[in-house]
Amino acid sequence: MTENSKTSRTLDDGLFNRTYKMFQVLERLPDRYISEEEVKGLLGVLPPDSATSLQSFFKPSIQQASQAFIRMVMAVLKGTYEAREKGKKVVLLPFNFPPEIIHAFENLAPVTTELLTTAGTVVLEGQGERYWDYVLGLGLPDHICSANAIELGSMLSGLDYQPDAIVSGCVGSCDVNAKSHEFVSLLLDLPQIPLEKPTMEFSQGFKYFKNNYYKMIRQLEELAGEELKEENLRELAVRANRCSELYNDLWELKKNVPNPVPGIFSLFVCGTRFSMWGREEGIRTLEQCVEVSRNNLESADYRSREEVARIVWTYLSYLYDTVNFYDWMEEKGISNFGDALQVAFPQTLDLTSKETMLDGMIEMAWKNVMTRQMGAPSMARGWAEDIIYMVKEWDLDGCVYCGHHSCKQTWSAFTVTRNEVLKRTGVPTLGLQGDTWIRSMTPIGVIQEELEQFVNNVIAGKRKRSGRRSRRRAAR
Ligand code: SF4
Repeated sequence: MTENSKTSRTLDDGLFNRTYKMFQVLERLPDRYISEEEVKGLLGVLPPDSATSLQSFFKPSIQQASQAFIRMVMAVLKGTYEAREKGKKVVLLPFNFPPEIIHAFENLAPVTTELLTTAGTVVLEGQGERYWDYVLGLGLPDHICSANAIELGSMLSGLDYQPDAIVSGCVGSCDVNAKSHEFVSLLLDLPQIPLEKPTMEFSQGFKYFKNNYYKMIRQLEELAGEELKEENLRELAVRANRCSELYNDLWELKKNVPNPVPGIFSLFVCGTRFSMWGREEGIRTLEQCVEVSRNNLESADYRSREEVARIVWTYLSYLYDTVNFYDWMEEKGISNFGDALQVAFPQTLDLTSKETMLDGMIEMAWKNVMTRQMGAPSMARGWAEDIIYMVKEWDLDGCVYCGHHSCKQTWSAFTVTRNEVLKRTGVPTLGLQGDTWIRSMTPIGVIQEELEQFVNNVIAGKRKRSGRRSRRRAAR
């Protein structure tokens, strides 16, 4: 029996509790550059899975951004852990629900299911495997989505913290996600606050969505025992606008050749969007990402790197080996632009009144990731439009669909979307099979092999025929 299969059979504590303990260790690290020697010392006392991920996080080239990110995630975990003693209620959210409205309440603390699953997968020994096994042991089918099932499984085990309510923000955009959260709310007797997105065209559908959003606010006010205050909303909106500005800076930076934004920053951007948008910790994380990327742009050494491919993940990437996989791509000269979860189109909120700020927030919720693609009136069209936009904006030459095991809805539109992207941009898509959060589905070595073949045989051939590589060289 391997070490991993041994740990996956032990369930003595919840994912949240274990992740929180790990981040308590990380939080004690000094808020300054940590030398390679110090990092080595830290890694020596951590379990192997945790050490592998963190080694990559503390690489000198990205360390300042990783540290800000770690502190931001710790703020989420601490906010959840200490909520009750501060008289607050914890609201569990799915990742497609913009969290800033919850931050605007004094008595509510948001925590995002998929952020917890991902944080646990990245830093825990045995990743999220034991909680996935537990969920299947309850009799749930293996085609539920690991993104949420891992954390929800931990919650159902009775060993973990429990929220006070769930915002069901996937109704109309992902049935699997919505049903998994509903199952937990029924089993644990937690109130559900629904926000339904209709799949109608803009004008009619948006009106309906807006009514639902206001109804949700009234339910949140009841839960929090307070009215949503205009001054709180404004403070929050000012910081959310700063997050949007930084998000747009990163977007623009990616238009350079070579791309100066490290692939791992897509995870940091998503983590911020899904949990700390409009909070100081979120701003700090994005500022550090922008600073590192700008420094890369200024560095002659960085600029001399050759990009053999510029690729994007058309929906999700693989998060069970994120950091090492992304490092491997970097070594191979594959510039990784992240996944479709970054296509959030945040906007500048109009600070004039409570209504204008809420109008902007509602529009952002309507256009947020997954909601805008999988909850579009035509999934294939909504999804393809976003991929085509990314391909054109960042001048990409390859797309990769990770084939997330549970995501039956993206699978259903994959072929149409791939054909549409190829027809309108000439850029090919590699279709893979695997699970974003579970390493036992497809080993990372197989994924690397397939990706390398795609880059060497398909992208390199296309570049050669179009003379693209030599044009880039001449431009330097
Ligand atoms: S990955 Fe697919 S199944 Fe999972 S939450 Fe997203 S849309 Fe739903």
